[in-house]
Amino acid sequence: MKKIILKAGKEKSLLRRHPWIFSGAIQRVEGAPDFGDTVQVHAADGRFLALAAHNSKSNIAARVWSWDQKEQIDAGFFRKQIAAAIDARTALSLAQHGNGMRLVHAESDRLPGLIVDRYGDVLVMQIGSAGAERWRDVITDILQEQFKPACIYERSDSDSRELEGMVPRNGVLRGMLPDTVEVIENGLRFKVDVIEGQKTGFYLDQRGNRALTETMAAGRDVLNCFCYTGGFSLYALRGGAKSVLSMDSSADALRIAGENLALNELDALRAEWMEADVFHALRKLRDQGRKFDLIILDPPKFAPTAAFAEKAARGYKDINLLGIKLLRPGGLLFNYSCSAGIGAELFQKIVAGAALDAGVDAQIVHYLHASADHPVLLSFPEGEYLKGLVVRVAG
Ligand code: SAH
Repeated sequence: MKKIILKAGKEKSLLRRHPWIFSGAIQRVEGAPDFGDTVQVHAADGRFLALAAHNSKSNIAARVWSWDQKEQIDAGFFRKQIAAAIDARTALSLAQHGNGMRLVHAESDRLPGLIVDRYGDVLVMQIGSAGAERWRDVITDILQEQFKPACIYERSDSDSRELEGMVPRNGVLRGMLPDTVEVIENGLRFKVDVIEGQKTGFYLDQRGNRALTETMAAGRDVLNCFCYTGGFSLYALRGGAKSVLSMDSSADALRIAGENLALNELDALRAEWMEADVFHALRKLRDQGRKFDLIILDPPKFAPTAAFAEKAARGYKDINLLGIKLLRPGGLLFNYSCSAGIGAELFQKIVAGAALDAGVDAQIVHYLHASADHPVLLSFPEGEYLKGLVVRVAG
């Protein structure tokens, strides 16, 4: 059997069921495992700890498949894990809002490095670990057998793949990709560009937060920063916003946003779209004296890891300060960070600092997270990447 023996004391995180083994924790590797091979992980005193997928090219040298020494890591294992992920979503009635869903959420669904998103009858798979890469064909077969989708598409092109020693991959795995892929969410229709869109094409994680925005938009002038394909904008329009100005730097995203607006027959007269760098555009709006009642800040990941936290904190502070200054008294700031490297506490401090610098009193009225199809495994706090605050500036 191929084995990893840890240095003395380095078994502690595994005993708490944290699924990553960093290269620096390893004393020696036995049996020359190949990329993605299953290895037994043992403590320095010889105790069995876990079965894991090995990756000598990554700083995360192994990711745990199972804590049970008797487990066979084979097609049956993946069938069982995928079924468990689906069962959890069924038990929580997560499909009520429409036909889009994250079916498998990697480590938090006990399938490290594997993401599967569903958009109607199209599945998009993203592989970010050597182990999932090794079992890619088996996993694809299981998804085909379970869902019989029109298409399984692979979007294994996230930046983190390079850190795992893998080249990007993007293409059809099974079936045929329809000309247009659409997702229906709470009765709204969104086109999804699975080939070139962000992530797997759509931000399913913001579903619940978009719905909350709708309930608070009536009669308000809304500014949606980093709008992508118009998610928050369409909900705000349907919720009766007086006006919605949406900004993004991507012309492709804005083109799809325009199509989505038409698709839902929402009032185009209340919607304004702007291709712009938000950092500049917010300053311009400030200089023009524009004011809003509800501002959404949903920027891309500024800090992929904790190492980038300081630079990221400056970015969040900057847009928060500008955002708060653009709000009328009583205005609402919907404010997100999807950086795993910025914890909830630090994020709240950044927002507090921005309110202080703006010279306003403000209250948190909602603490927000990703939708329930993006669960967080308690033993894997890194899974809690998306946090949001709804802040109300005193009237
Ligand atoms: N809120 C969206 C998702 C936002 S994703 C939704 O619910 O669907 C982040 C978006 O920020 C992407 O569309 C990306 O194109 C855009 N972006 C990244 N940097 C930007 C910048 N400096 N200025 C404007 N948009 C930016």
